[in-house]
Amino acid sequence: MASSVPPVNGNGNGGSHAGGGEPFGSCCEAMADILGTQDFSPLFAVEEETGVLFMAVGNAEIESDNPEEDGEMAWFDQAVMFCPFCGTQLQTPEGIEEKLGAIEEED
Ligand SMILES: [Zn+2]
Repeated sequence: MASSVPPVNGNGNGGSHAGGGEPFGSCCEAMADILGTQDFSPLFAVEEETGVLFMAVGNAEIESDNPEEDGEMAWFDQAVMFCPFCGTQLQTPEGIEEKLGAIEEED
């Protein structure tokens, strides 16, 4: 019971049922540890704006004429559908679309 996983969706505005319900990290200890850790920078992250769980899949060094950008690391991420540790379905394409769409629709 000593988990420090932050709430996924802080704003309870309106009666939209975003589906799911279980917070990320409630499926297994591995995911809970990763999302709650202070010891390292996890490659999984819940995007604050949308509440969608993303996973870093790779990085690349930026080649740019702009010296401020040149040599910086660019990270690529993908939304996670299933927990890679226990196999629980965490998100659906429809649910993610809904979350992303809800942000775009905001004024
Ligand atoms: Zn899991």
